[in-house]
Amino acid sequence: MRRFVLFIVMTVSLLGLPQQAQAQADVEMTDVRMVFEFGQHVTYQARIRSTIPILNATIVFRDDFDKIPRRLSVEVGEDGVIFHQHDITQSVLRPFTTITYWFDITLTDGQVFRSQNYQEQYADNRYTWQQRTEELVRVHWYEGDEVFGDALLNVARRSLNTANALIPAPVEEPVDVYVYASTSDLQGALILGGESWQGGHANPKLGVVMLAVTPGPEQSIEMETLIPHELAHVMLYRSVGDGYATLPLWLSEGIASLAELYPNPDYEQALITASQNDSLLPIKDLCDTFPLDASRAYLAYAESQSFVRFLRDTYGAPNLLSLTTAYADGLSCEQGAVRALGASLANLDTRWRESELGANVVGVFFREMMPYFGLFVFILLLPLIGFMQRSPADDGTG
Ligand SMILES: [Zn+2]
Repeated sequence: MRRFVLFIVMTVSLLGLPQQAQAQADVEMTDVRMVFEFGQHVTYQARIRSTIPILNATIVFRDDFDKIPRRLSVEVGEDGVIFHQHDITQSVLRPFTTITYWFDITLTDGQVFRSQNYQEQYADNRYTWQQRTEELVRVHWYEGDEVFGDALLNVARRSLNTANALIPAPVEEPVDVYVYASTSDLQGALILGGESWQGGHANPKLGVVMLAVTPGPEQSIEMETLIPHELAHVMLYRSVGDGYATLPLWLSEGIASLAELYPNPDYEQALITASQNDSLLPIKDLCDTFPLDASRAYLAYAESQSFVRFLRDTYGAPNLLSLTTAYADGLSCEQGAVRALGASLANLDTRWRESELGANVVGVFFREMMPYFGLFVFILLLPLIGFMQRSPADDGTG
């Protein structure tokens, strides 16, 4: 058991009471620990010794994403012992975040003491995780042998390289990849963590990726699809920082899908079918949300991947990065494209359809040339127009 010893000096005075009149108390905290059953409850323990009696105590805690810390009033036993079990089935904590907590202790003379901060990672401890580590990535799994772990690490390493070619970003902190043995196991973790279900999940700010790969015949395809996709989300975040939140979905999902090492053969078919049925989703409709309907959501991913590939192949990877930066700077879905690529989103959308889906390539040539063609005709006709306007007067005055 870890043992924390703390001598607290008076830092806060309740209600601004004058302190000079009071005797300064010595408060010592030992045996501080936080233990939890993932998704069920957290137990906080501590022992407080104080030279002045304790009136009450509060545990204050937050995970990495709580803007406002949460507070729990706890009982302190006669012997100064705190043992408090907190039900977290409702007030969920996010998986794999670090829980930071401290104690606010009010003494009978009104003095309030705040302890130091303590931290504990809220890992999914329903499973016994195995781990493979190298410099920039750590993979964790609980079902499958050592060979399975080696395969995970191998794919993760290749994925970082691929993602880096798309979006160059410094990988200073290692990324953690947690591999669940089934989608229902993963689903359980995400629901317990208060998130809606997805096939894979990245928490880019935390550098944590959670996904489901079942050891067996399909494992390579699953690894080579999910690991690079979710790692690319992390890399994208590390490339642009908090501006990641303002990226259009078609861009972040397009880049992540493009990073996949196993090319999804069904995406191509989904695009062809939608193109033939004239049911492609306009790219401008994929800026903020994807459709809820499963087949249209699938099409949204397929389109995003194809569209981003078209942008990269047409404008080059550095301009793709400029585009990402423009959006991370907060420009709208339309403005970002204009600033970085000098074209409207509608124009890019049309050119993408024509280039990637073979639609009316001749048409795009004429549309692109139309302003020049109009100008050309106008210049040709200008003398003629001038001549015709001048003619009647000339005739009259001879
Ligand atoms: Zn994604």
